[in-house]
Parts: sequence; C-alpha cells; structure tokens
Amino acid sequence: MPARPYRDLSRCVLCEHRCGADRLAGEEGVCRVTEPVVASRCLHPAPPESYTVFLAGCNFKCLNCQNWSIAHYPDNGQPVEGYVEPAFLARECVRYLESPDGRFMGADRIFFSGGEATIHLPYVEEIVAEARGLRPGVKVNFDTNGFMTEQSLQRILAFATSLTFDIKAFSDEVHRALTGAPVDPVLRNAEILARRAPERIWEFRVLVIPGISDGEVEPMCRFLAGLGRDLPVCFLAFRPNFVLESHPGPGRELMERCVEAARQAGLRRATWAGVTDVPGLAASEDPALRPFYRTVPARVAASAAAAAGCTTHPRDCYACLSSRQCPVKRYVPVRQC
Ligand code: SF4
Ligand code: SF4
Repeated sequence: MPARPYRDLSRCVLCEHRCGADRLAGEEGVCRVTEPVVASRCLHPAPPESYTVFLAGCNFKCLNCQNWSIAHYPDNGQPVEGYVEPAFLARECVRYLESPDGRFMGADRIFFSGGEATIHLPYVEEIVAEARGLRPGVKVNFDTNGFMTEQSLQRILAFATSLTFDIKAFSDEVHRALTGAPVDPVLRNAEILARRAPERIWEFRVLVIPGISDGEVEPMCRFLAGLGRDLPVCFLAFRPNFVLESHPGPGRELMERCVEAARQAGLRRATWAGVTDVPGLAASEDPALRPFYRTVPARVAASAAAAAGCTTHPRDCYACLSSRQCPVKRYVPVRQC
C-alpha cells in the first residue's frame, strides 16, 4: 500500500541538509528516501528496553555505521520490509509492549531508530498519535544523529519521552570526514535539548574511534559539561564496521580514560559501553587529501572514505555531484558483525 501523502515531504526540510526535494513526487534529497520504509521491528533488550522500529535510510554516510544494511537503503540492495500502515504498526507496538515477553524484558516504550528516524518524522508522528489513541501516555524514545532542523527538533520534543542522541565527533572536519555532514547543527541541537528538556535526554552517545575521534573527547566533554554537569553521557566503543571494517577498536584503557576526562571536565554521569580491543589495521593517511583536511585524524577518516570511492573532499554529501550514485552507500563490508 502506498504511503500517505505527508504534506511536508513535498518540499523536504526535515533535516539540515534542507534539500527542498519533492519526495511525494519521487524527487530525492541526500537521504535518497522518498516514502516511509520500515526495515524491521522487534522487542529490543538494550536500554531503554523497548519495542524498536528500525526505519530505513539515513541523511548521513558514516564510515563506521553499525546499521549499514538499514541506513544505506535504497542503495545497497539489502532487504527491508517496506511501508507499514501507521495504525497497524501502532497496534503492533502496543501489543508487544503489553505481551508477556515485553513485560518480562521490561520494555516500556516504542523506540524509533534507523538509519535516521528524522527523515521519516511525519510518519513517526502518526504512529505515535495512533499508539497514544490506544494506550494514552505510552512512552516513546527518539534515536538520532542530531542533524534535524530546529523546527523538526521542536516537533520531536512535542511527543518524545526520551531521546538517545549520537555525537560522532566534535570538530567540524572530523565530523565531516566521518559522516559527510557538518557538525554545527548537531552541537546546536544538543544545546537546545540540554537547555529545554534535559530530563528527557536518555544519554548523549559519544563515539570513540582510536586515531580518529579519540583526540576530541576532551573538548567534547568541556562542551557537554558547559551544558549541564548532570547530563548523561555514554562513550561508545567503536566496533570495526562498514568502511572502517579493518580499523581497530579502542582498548578498555582508552574508554576508561574518556570517562576520567569527562569527570575532570565536571560531568557527573559519564559511562562507557561496547566491546573493546577488537584488533585491526589502522586506516592510513592518503597524502593527496592533505589540502582538504587540516588534521591527521580527519585525513585518516577521509582516506578511508576515499578508498571506498568518496569523490568530494572535504566530504559534503549535500554538495556532492555523486550523491545519487554514492559509492560509500553501496559499500558492502567483508566483516559483517
Ligand atoms: S536529507 Fe533531509 S532534507 Fe534532504 S530529503 Fe532527506 S530528510 Fe529531507
Ligand atoms: S561520494 Fe559524495 S555523497 Fe558519497 S559519501 Fe562522498 S561526499 Fe557523500
């Protein structure tokens, strides 16, 4: 069944790429997604325990993507479920949350993830409205890379009980090298969220990739501590994946140093999570990229992108002429975990 014609998809400015694409007419923006597509859904035991709806497609092209098979829809040929009627999906979410398995797990909310849920915002809003018609006040978590417009963030805050908010890097050039997008909107939205609804931040998730983003932990901690010393911050150990499938993961000692740096900066609720000490061969720097990136960590990440076929440096997926045939989105890792 075709998706409902959500009016704000006719000139899409849901995220800060602000493509203006008429997605209803089949025009594609950076995310290349026209209508809402569900990749999969299931009861999910990771905190916050939930019934999780994974939505297909993303506005970022992260080199480290753990959900690459979902996020790089429609380019990588991986299976997805397709459009699911919001009323049907809402009934399913509520049924699973109230099921014996859901109760046993402690699942207490619907969790929208991806890919990036922002690119499907009107669809998410409709599912939430349907679900709250069935079970008023049902909790909702919104999982995001933080690249939505301020208007979209306001819409999300109108329904979200909690947010899990990824920050991939602190400096613009490392963020661009890792994701293909600038960091300023992410930091702006982190600040808006911390000022307006700190109680709804489940956690800020800060990615730690040795040799790429680990050098940014201290300034990141100072930034977050400036927003609030009691903000929950979780450092996520990079798990070698996708384009960075051969790059080594961080050691336990590095993760503990991140938590210590957070404490030194004044953050009182810093933790770390993930698997450490995954071996690998560090990505090497391509000297040809030196004119485009000032720092070694950005060049190392950008070199991995270039080796996967990325054509535009500094990475900028909005301006890139290869956006519709992006080789990064088509990358299929050998190491699949
Ligand atoms: S990348 Fe963002 S602004 Fe562009 S079409 Fe997708 S959701 Fe809309
Ligand atoms: S080729 Fe272009 S669209 Fe693809 S990741 Fe690189 S900059 Fe982004």
